[in-house]
Amino acid sequence: TTGIEQREFQTETRQILDLMIHSVYSNKDTFLRELVSNASDALDKLKLEAYRDKDLEADTSDLHIELDVDADTRTLTVRDNGIGMSRDEVIDLIGTLAKSGTAELRRKLREAKDAVASEELIGQFGIGFYSTFMVADKVTLLTRKAGEKHGTRWESSGDATYTIETVDDAPQGTSVTLHLKPEDVEDHLYDYASERKLREIVKRYSDFIAYPVRMQVERPAPETDDTSAEDQDAEPKTVVETETLNSMKALWARPRSEVTDDEYNEFYKHVSHSWDDPLEVIPMKAEGTFEYQALLFIPSHAPFDLFSREHRAGIHLYVKRVFIKDDCEELMPEYLRFVKGVVDAQDLSLNVSREILQQDRQIRAIRRRLTKKVLTTIKDMLSSEDEASRDKYRTVWSQFGRVLKEGLLSDFDNRDTLLEISSFPSTHSEDEQTTLAQYVERMKDGQEQIYYLTGESRQQLEASPHMEAFRARGLEVLLLTDPVDEMWVTSVPEFDGKPLQSIAKGEVDLDTDEEKKDAEAKREEQDKQFADVLGWLTSTLEDQVKQVRLSTRLTDSPACIVGDEFGMTPSLERMYRASGQ
Ligand code: ADP
Ligand code: MG
Repeated sequence: TTGIEQREFQTETRQILDLMIHSVYSNKDTFLRELVSNASDALDKLKLEAYRDKDLEADTSDLHIELDVDADTRTLTVRDNGIGMSRDEVIDLIGTLAKSGTAELRRKLREAKDAVASEELIGQFGIGFYSTFMVADKVTLLTRKAGEKHGTRWESSGDATYTIETVDDAPQGTSVTLHLKPEDVEDHLYDYASERKLREIVKRYSDFIAYPVRMQVERPAPETDDTSAEDQDAEPKTVVETETLNSMKALWARPRSEVTDDEYNEFYKHVSHSWDDPLEVIPMKAEGTFEYQALLFIPSHAPFDLFSREHRAGIHLYVKRVFIKDDCEELMPEYLRFVKGVVDAQDLSLNVSREILQQDRQIRAIRRRLTKKVLTTIKDMLSSEDEASRDKYRTVWSQFGRVLKEGLLSDFDNRDTLLEISSFPSTHSEDEQTTLAQYVERMKDGQEQIYYLTGESRQQLEASPHMEAFRARGLEVLLLTDPVDEMWVTSVPEFDGKPLQSIAKGEVDLDTDEEKKDAEAKREEQDKQFADVLGWLTSTLEDQVKQVRLSTRLTDSPACIVGDEFGMTPSLERMYRASGQ
């Protein structure tokens, strides 16, 4: 047993703690949702671990969560008999804000102008365990990991430091004790030591949690007939009973008509570890060969780490109501990694391994269905008559368009749908993006291709000499500036029978037949006239370019460099060079 050790929080953690304590977030009740959600995750993990490791010494016969109020010390304890944490895990998980994107959040918080803006950011990020400091001036965590002998006690007042100590005896699982802020207890609205308040919060935020959330409540003693008169005088007229506060009903198993938006929202927050509401809820149910239920969510904000390696897939897999795993990559293609939710399959083995998941026919079938459903949901938003739905589409595209476009490279089955739901900046409008269908509708008579130019910024593209001839002829050009655009344009041949054509590559034919004849005659003449110059340029630039030729594509600039029809664009070349190829 070691003594009490004092440690410092990471700078980032400290800053976020500071924000929590000064409560930028107005809805303080949510701290309980976070604790219950963590407890529920810990119970899921223990159940699974005990199933996999038969030698694990852990009692899983009564997995539950317990709320315990001590009115005298003004403390609230949330206790679970789940997996628990080792000492190192406590330091890692609780001592640091172990989330990718923390630095990003901090930068944005610095830029945030007011409390509302900060609140929104915190809402997008979610701060889990630390939200306890909204309501507590001291938090004590006692935990013992299943299978381990010693426990760990962690304590902090939410300032720069925390203490950590190894303890000999602690029950398996985790208990978090909040020393409630006195001002809250006095204020009835925030009295987290009150039975009624706790019951209300659990019902509102955690009703669907699959384990009982219990609390000892005092009740008036039931009237009994057979008690004698003396007994009634002697005994107090209340009894203490254990009450389960939540219904434990799996939300995905209930018909949509019976579930309120609030319930969906709270469930979303639990499975996604988010603090804001989802943009769209997608309940699904399949009967027949492969029976499953799914409840999917499209978030309203891209997470900070969508493009980082640490980003985790968002689908939890259940088999017949039993939690199997979170971050189930096998159920959603990578380009839909922002989708959150649960899938409950009926006919899988509880003992599914990674290998099985990757090869299982049923999993593959479910994945196909989920993918299609998400894409058609987005498509329906786009084609809706309803302005609010079209707004949702715009949000989806602005938040996740860059990720969705990755699908154009990998998902050939759904390529057409993906092309239909894609929007791009174009020369047609400064601020509204265009779909390909809208582009095609505006195509000039005789125009057979969809023109595009790729590059780093709209400004750079608009200044490109390649644009001149197109501008002069009033031809619309898509301005593609995402790195992923370079990749998919080369693998997508056409949309609606119209080939995609880079205006920076090969010969772009802009003329009518008549113009062509004229031009050809003129060109022959010019070729003769400039033969010497062209010959000289070609030999001088031999190592740099393939060929020097006269062009009709410029109106203002004297010369430009054109890529080979099948060659790489300059930015793709840069990307390859940067990656060392
Ligand atoms: P998140 O739940 O989003 O990961 P939290 O701040 O809520 O973030 O929790 C951080 C981590 O601490 C959790 O991921 C989990 O590993 C661990 N943890 C928190 N509470 C518990 C608990 N009751 N039992 C076991 N581990 C826990
Ligand atoms: Mg959490």
